[in-house]
Amino acid sequence: MTSSGQRRCGDCTLCCKVMAIETLAKPASSWCAHCKPGRGCAIYDTRPAECETFACLWLVNDLLDERWKPSRSKLVLTTSDDGIEIRCDAGSPNAWRKEPYASEIRAWAEQGERNDMTVVVIVGPRMILITPEHEFDLGIVGPDERIVRELEGTKVVGATVMKASELGASPEVSGMRLTARRS
Ligand code: SF4
Ligand code: SF4
Repeated sequence: MTSSGQRRCGDCTLCCKVMAIETLAKPASSWCAHCKPGRGCAIYDTRPAECETFACLWLVNDLLDERWKPSRSKLVLTTSDDGIEIRCDAGSPNAWRKEPYASEIRAWAEQGERNDMTVVVIVGPRMILITPEHEFDLGIVGPDERIVRELEGTKVVGATVMKASELGASPEVSGMRLTARRS
């Protein structure tokens, strides 16, 4: 965690739970051993670079109001090459279905479908691709797997998970789009 010019993490430490920290071999959805939940990092001055450089979207984007502060929403938002990732605190697995979050997430999905961007909710190990009309529960997507969207025009009509090795390097396979795997 870090701080932006305007906002501060304050009492929020949720990224220290929901994010995987490779340097520490810390899996996603479990508290970091160095975290004092609600208070901060016990090794702040020597924390890994990936912690030092991390900033969730709420911290850096004033368009997300105070209701989106992760300690309040139970949601940590980040961007990826493909769109928006919404990591939900596994202790509140339905937080993303509450308002105002659900409506906003749906609106992002509508914009995303028009602009070839994805909106993915991640709850514990589960990934759910959100589209204007569907929720594609993809289950656990491994590091060697990719989300494959089936498109009709810009409309997402299907989604599945396939081994990266079966797909080759192309980002587009006969009407399908691949979504990069995140940790
Ligand atoms: S989730 Fe965001 S606001 Fe909360 S501690 Fe991490 S970077 Fe700070
Ligand atoms: S090392 Fe500190 S900043 Fe990094 S995840 Fe652990 S508690 Fe959070």
